[in-house]
Amino acid sequence: MTLLLAGIALLHVLVQAALAGDLRVDVLDVGQGDSILIRTPANKIILIDAGESSGHVADQLKAQGVDHLDLVIATHPHADHIGGMAEVLKDYPTKLYVDNGLPHTTQTYADVMSEVESKNISYKAGIRGTVYNLDDGAKLEILFPNGTPLTGTRSDLNANSVVTRLTHGTDCFYFSGDSEAPTEEALLAEGLAQCDVLKVAHHGSQYSTTPAFLAAVKPKIALISCGIGNRYHHPGPDTVERLRADGDAIYRTDESGQITVISSGHGVTVKTAHAPVAVPGTPAPWYPTGTGPVATTGGMAVPAAPSAPISTTSSGSAPIATPTPPSSPGALVDINTADLAGLEALPGIGPSKAAAILAYRADHGAFVSVDDLDNVSGIGPATMASLRDLVTVSAPAPATAPPEPTAPPASDTPTDETPAAPNPSATAHHAHHHRSH
Ligand SMILES: [Zn+2]
Repeated sequence: MTLLLAGIALLHVLVQAALAGDLRVDVLDVGQGDSILIRTPANKIILIDAGESSGHVADQLKAQGVDHLDLVIATHPHADHIGGMAEVLKDYPTKLYVDNGLPHTTQTYADVMSEVESKNISYKAGIRGTVYNLDDGAKLEILFPNGTPLTGTRSDLNANSVVTRLTHGTDCFYFSGDSEAPTEEALLAEGLAQCDVLKVAHHGSQYSTTPAFLAAVKPKIALISCGIGNRYHHPGPDTVERLRADGDAIYRTDESGQITVISSGHGVTVKTAHAPVAVPGTPAPWYPTGTGPVATTGGMAVPAAPSAPISTTSSGSAPIATPTPPSSPGALVDINTADLAGLEALPGIGPSKAAAILAYRADHGAFVSVDDLDNVSGIGPATMASLRDLVTVSAPAPATAPPEPTAPPASDTPTDETPAAPNPSATAHHAHHHRSH
């Protein structure tokens, strides 16, 4: 009996030691983008993504008292995730840098990698099965990529985001990057465990957070990082509705600023920078009262909510002069079938860029991925950023190919303006393009 009691006492001590303090997760307010700061009780510091350069993540880390980074993860190389990364790596001693192993063609990406190199930061391509033990009973596990890159998706860069799962005691956080439905499908095939706190994929876009995914992960708290009045209409109303139907408490950086989740190892508490401010054009925020093991208390320092509607312009860099919104949210322009007028209606695309897209399509065949748009001359990172969620690519369907001519084409005359049939070599070119950088 004495031995048993001693054993229980020892176990109690061990549990106390294992959970020495709180773990803190901050979804930083970076406008339209992602940046998540994790700090363990033993001051292991992890940063997942660094927002756009206009999100001032390096300055925010300084304000939070961060003096080093043990691990930095870039979920994927889009500018709303790595735009602020080079500055972060320049300013903070960083032990390890992990990305999804897919290079990108942008200067932003090149700048980040040259910073990794010049500062001699250890680099690893993230792969499923890697577990980072963070002391105090906390660990971060990579769930994706799983060694089989997803190809031919709406956005291969998004779909191959680094997805991670952080556990601290019985608390769990799921960080999804901008992963898409095919990513979720691949993860469901591997087996997905329940997890209380979900960083909702892709700023809450309609292309992720499927019912099957929610049924497996069963989150209680959903965190959405998106900018006020962003041009992508993130989060998608359908996604918000799915999260509500799932019974999740939803917190959004566009409504509440920075979101902080404190984990004791046996329950979490949510705090926000300010009380939620309704974003025009979106449903009223919905917050359940916290009960049970998950406490959801809102409001850190609560400044009075402004009564006037807040500005719908992005708080970040000035947008290009009045971009034309899509005719209706969710009506995507298919860059494989759109004509000149359809392309010109896109923000940042004038007659010359629309013509360049058509010329590229004629030369290379159907676009395999939205990401391939940045191979078109004249389309740079800024245009890509404004287009990414307004366009789509149809799967090259044999049915849409022009009928096979009975005789070989008369000549290789350059006046032939028939759009090229979907070109099978485009896929190979795309894959090669990724591997060769
Ligand atoms: Zn993003």
